[in-house]
Amino acid sequence: MIIGCPKEIKNNENRVALTPGGALELVRRGHTVLVQTNAGVNSGYLDSDYEEAGAQIQPDIESVYARAETIVKVKEPIESEYKLVREGQLLFTYFHFASSRPLTEAMVNSKAICLAYETVEGPNGSLPLLVPMSEVAGRMSVQEGAKYLEKPAGGRGILLGGVPGVHPARVLILGAGIVGTEAAKMAAGLHANVTLMDINLERLRHLANVLPANVTLVFSSEYNIRKELDRVDLIIGAVLIPGAKAPHLITRQMLSEMRDGTVVIDVAVDQGGCIETCHPTTHEDPTYVIDGVIHYCVANMPGAVPFTSTLALTNATFPYLLQIAQKGWERATDENPGLKAGLNVVRGEIVYEEVAEAFA
Ligand code: NAD
Repeated sequence: MIIGCPKEIKNNENRVALTPGGALELVRRGHTVLVQTNAGVNSGYLDSDYEEAGAQIQPDIESVYARAETIVKVKEPIESEYKLVREGQLLFTYFHFASSRPLTEAMVNSKAICLAYETVEGPNGSLPLLVPMSEVAGRMSVQEGAKYLEKPAGGRGILLGGVPGVHPARVLILGAGIVGTEAAKMAAGLHANVTLMDINLERLRHLANVLPANVTLVFSSEYNIRKELDRVDLIIGAVLIPGAKAPHLITRQMLSEMRDGTVVIDVAVDQGGCIETCHPTTHEDPTYVIDGVIHYCVANMPGAVPFTSTLALTNATFPYLLQIAQKGWERATDENPGLKAGLNVVRGEIVYEEVAEAFA
């Protein structure tokens, strides 16, 4: 199979969908790998690394799309790429179709096959290609929180872990899924005083057995959240109700109960955010202040740490890419129902129910 990996052109997207290690595995199995020049440079991979692995470097994006049977990417194609997508070509990438009618229409019109990372399912109904980015964002949220808690950054001026003889900072994490658990582990590791809330009691029970003693697990309710607001230093929003907008667990009015310089990192911003005053920001201008509370609401947090995110993503995506390369997408999806769940658009037809409903 001819597999093409273009350079990402979406604003501030530094990840690459295929590492030289992945290219090597594909070439060893007799596949042709085309990589656009400088595709991996922001993740630490030079053209020469790919060439050593046996890939062919292409001078521009057009030559990758023109020759490849399968395109492997990180983000959905943007408008300038729509015309490059060919009939019958397979695209394996994040699409998030339901949030973009123009993208959906362009892919339907292209008659390509769109296999979306975000709907590929694991054996237990999990979403294995979303997990690694939640892990990155969860861990990163504490790092960002610690940064903005510093006085020169506008924060209260408190060190997360304190020092011997001085109380540590208080961290409240809303949602104990992947993001929340990773955030709790990081904050606990820095010796902060952590409260982790969720409405899923089974989840809280399980985490009580595995998280350290400086993480207190509390059932999430408005009453319990309010009790924390006047003493907390850092709040991390990490709730998700699949397929729905995040609930506003902290309202505009509740900000007035918080101290000046409190930091809120709303990781759930991509689902609307769980803090009412959250709106999406970018890595260039990540924060804004309302009622003295610093809001950080970057919708693509993993994009800031591409060396880590590229490996985390490709560790998860590569086994699927290999199945596609070895068997062709039709046999690969027939034999693996989890991969089949990734099919969103096939030769001009929307085949994923939620996407079809979104544009019905
Ligand atoms: P997840 O499904 O693993 O966890 C979500 C948790 O929220 C679940 O445990 C659920 O029980 C809990 N929850 C639901 N309602 C709640 C409530 N009222 N109070 C407390 N908890 C509640 O999801 P995840 O992978 O951890 O992702 C969390 C969010 O982070 C998602 O919106 C995801 O898209 C987003 N995310 C954002 C970025 C970014 O760059 N900003 C990166 C990765 C993920």
